[in-house]
Amino acid sequence: MKIETIAVHAGHAVDPATGAVASPIYLSTTFERDIEGTYSRGFMYTRNDNPNRQALERGVSMLEGGEAAAAFASGTGATMSILQALSPGDHVLAHVDAYYGTSRLIHEIFLRWGLEADFVDMSDPDAVRKALRPNTKLAWAETPSNPLLKIVDLAAVAEIVRGPGAIFVCDNTWAPVLQRPFDLGADLVLHSTTKYFGGHCDVLGGIVVAKTESEFFQRIRSIQYEGGAVPSPFDCWLILRGMRTLPWRMRAHSENALKIAEFLARHPKVKRVHYPGLESHPRHKTALKQMSASGGMLSLEVKDGYDAAMQVAAKTKVFIRATSLGGVESLIEHRASIEGPGTISPQGLLRLSIGLENADDLIEDLDRALG
Ligand SMILES: *Cc1c(COP(=O)(O)O)cnc(C)c1O
Repeated sequence: MKIETIAVHAGHAVDPATGAVASPIYLSTTFERDIEGTYSRGFMYTRNDNPNRQALERGVSMLEGGEAAAAFASGTGATMSILQALSPGDHVLAHVDAYYGTSRLIHEIFLRWGLEADFVDMSDPDAVRKALRPNTKLAWAETPSNPLLKIVDLAAVAEIVRGPGAIFVCDNTWAPVLQRPFDLGADLVLHSTTKYFGGHCDVLGGIVVAKTESEFFQRIRSIQYEGGAVPSPFDCWLILRGMRTLPWRMRAHSENALKIAEFLARHPKVKRVHYPGLESHPRHKTALKQMSASGGMLSLEVKDGYDAAMQVAAKTKVFIRATSLGGVESLIEHRASIEGPGTISPQGLLRLSIGLENADDLIEDLDRALG
């Protein structure tokens, strides 16, 4: 079946008891035992498993083409589980432009717990090759990356990290559906489902999808229910509901973003536009090869640095000044000031999450704000 059909039906079944077409939400934390003390209906306690979580995990695995998935209370909770499944002394190689929270997690928590880590620009496969060590157990790619929209050639990096037998993770939060990391050699896919899956800025969540049911994934699964950072049944229900329209939304987000990127690239107040759909992007060809559309995220650098960037963000009326991404409403954000000291975001950079408004209204809003 095609991706739109999978998105609508995966994880959904008409409720056999009532005929309800939309699935019920099972708020129950606990489930009845059989007289013999067993659990023949499959559920015991909601931290271990819950019908809504199971439906979400099955749905997202089918969508990504994986064998299994484990859902968490946030994207960061999902990231945490992957890092916790490693052991002290293991080496992690991560993309230098990975989500800020991911590098912070590695620096502030996991180095203390004995992981070793290096950050390299994974959009350069040679840099990945040089940074590999015999104890590299995990390679963490993110593409397009945050906030510079760097493109990692997933097939090329997968090939390189397979050498020492590292597990290859792709954070696919920014390009769900548009990019199929398992077809390109990834072992695990991570999503912050807070973003495009939820799609409406009203639910936090994260998920780890495994290409195959490996021993490493079993560790992640046990961290999920023993560690307890599980999503609520209602959150799972909302995320699965969001998934039903995901392929169509991604198409519309991408179409809008391309129009806006082209407009910004011509604007005299704009120094640079980072968007993989533009021919001027240094890895445009790689993006065309591995993505079916370029996604809804872009960033721009204004000519006059910090003050000019803050003024643009202050003047937009349709774009809302807020962090996060992937919702129906367009957001504008000055990354350097939200990331704080240690940021590698340029001071004149504004990140845009392009929503589902009419692109002409968004362009007019940015034109007015840029002055
Ligand atoms: C937001 C985000 C995360 C973290 O997800 P939360 O749900 O906020 O914990 C991880 N990776 C990427 C690429 C993100 O955009």
